[in-house]
Amino acid sequence: MKKIIIAIDGYSSCGKSSFAKAIAAKLGYIFIDTGAMYRGVTLWAIRHGMVTGSHIDEARLVEALPSIDISFAYNESRKAGDLILCGENVEDRIRSIEVSDAVSRVSAIAAVRARLVAMQQAMGRGKGIVMDGRDIGTTVFPDAELKIFMTASVDVRAKRRYKELVAKGEKVTLDDVRRNVAERDRIDETRAESPLRRAADALLLDNSDMTIDEQMDWIDSILRRLLE
Ligand code: C5P
Repeated sequence: MKKIIIAIDGYSSCGKSSFAKAIAAKLGYIFIDTGAMYRGVTLWAIRHGMVTGSHIDEARLVEALPSIDISFAYNESRKAGDLILCGENVEDRIRSIEVSDAVSRVSAIAAVRARLVAMQQAMGRGKGIVMDGRDIGTTVFPDAELKIFMTASVDVRAKRRYKELVAKGEKVTLDDVRRNVAERDRIDETRAESPLRRAADALLLDNSDMTIDEQMDWIDSILRRLLE
């Protein structure tokens, strides 16, 4: 069967990764969560004292970028890659509210984006990949054969993320999570460097009232048409 690139973009916490992972499993494709890569760089910056409140020490971070080693190691139980930061599996650390609070500011730095985009493009060279993020259909793979732009209401997204965090034992309130989701959307949409926006040729999917099975039904006929 023909191999393609599937680019999934959209707002924070609208289930992009779950959807991308399910599509990848169905097709036997590689799944890459690019948000995890930005979160990894952010965790590194926090650990090295480069994040103070809303201030990021951009000059030091950019200088250190070549030494920040980011990769994925497949985790059989999650059926996805765990993020490896300089040899350490940090998959459980990168979803914390501390990282979430700083990640959009780190992601707005042009040099950070250039480095991660180059890595993502290399990962997609052989096609057969489903990648989710904010700029996949616009910047990373502007020629992707299938682009989807996902959205859902802020309330639905905040509740979903809140449930996930509480299940992991994070001490957060729904209000904290709602504020973080809205603030990340704002920064992601207004940054100068590849801001979050829907590519002109991306299909729109509002999954506010959809289960993952309904989303898979929605994409089934699209995939059949593209792959046959
Ligand atoms: O997808 P996730 O919510 O984990 O992404 C975390 C943050 O990383 C986003 O809010 C955004 O600031 C940034 N990001 C990005 N470009 C991507 C993926 C994520 O700027 N391709």
